[in-house]
Amino acid sequence: MKLILLGSGAVRCDLERWGPAQIVRVGQENLLFDCGRGATMRMTEAGVPFEAIRRVFFTHHHYDHNCDFPYFFLTGWVLKRNFPLEIYGPRGTERFCRGLFEVAYEDDINSRRHHPLYTERGCEYVARDVLEDEWTLAGDGYTVRMVHTLHKPHILDNLAFRVEAAGKSIVVAGDNIITPALMDLAAGCDVLVHECTFPTERIENAKWGSFHTSPRALGKWAKERGVKRLVLKHFAVQPGVEVEPMAQEVRAEFGGEGLIVGRDLLELDV
Ligand SMILES: [Zn+2]
Ligand SMILES: [Zn+2]
Repeated sequence: MKLILLGSGAVRCDLERWGPAQIVRVGQENLLFDCGRGATMRMTEAGVPFEAIRRVFFTHHHYDHNCDFPYFFLTGWVLKRNFPLEIYGPRGTERFCRGLFEVAYEDDINSRRHHPLYTERGCEYVARDVLEDEWTLAGDGYTVRMVHTLHKPHILDNLAFRVEAAGKSIVVAGDNIITPALMDLAAGCDVLVHECTFPTERIENAKWGSFHTSPRALGKWAKERGVKRLVLKHFAVQPGVEVEPMAQEVRAEFGGEGLIVGRDLLELDV
């Protein structure tokens, strides 16, 4: 398996760190997890033929995690995708897709449909809201296990994913606080890709601090649960928020070579 971190940034525009998105490659198949700002451009840079992607997974529907998705979907169709895209995500995923492709882009899609330049099925999709406490999708030589995690409860549902293939595992989390379900999902994994949004002090003292995990708490639980390599992402770089001091906070708990400070287009063989 291979992890390609497409974007290591968060909400704000940052030319070095684009929005949340990552690819997990299993054999020949590229699975896309989140599709934030510039994801399609980063896929192009990474040499990922995004029109061949069959399965997309959303952690949650904050716009920093899905704003590139209409571009990805429609340009994939332009590039001759000829099968319905499978989309998996938390509650609200089907509604999100319906709003995009049956409301916002309905006229665009109808203007291209049945035109000889466009395939018949590339504008179709199958979206599934994962409502079960835990659900596993089987693929060609891999499985994707999904559990719900807490980010902005009661408003936004939120998922984390564990991809397993040939005895190896990559866990992709979105934005979240620490929960038993997430810790159990990530226990003993080869790679955990996890947010490192703000410094510990800011998270502990902010009103919205309950939406995110602090760097120190992340390092501690990842260590306790036997995570082998921890990739940090979703840095909210802005005045007063810098990556290295946050990484140091994680390092105090999760030291050694297992800690990887994510950057755009980072590739990791697993
Ligand atoms: Zn986010
Ligand atoms: Zn979020």
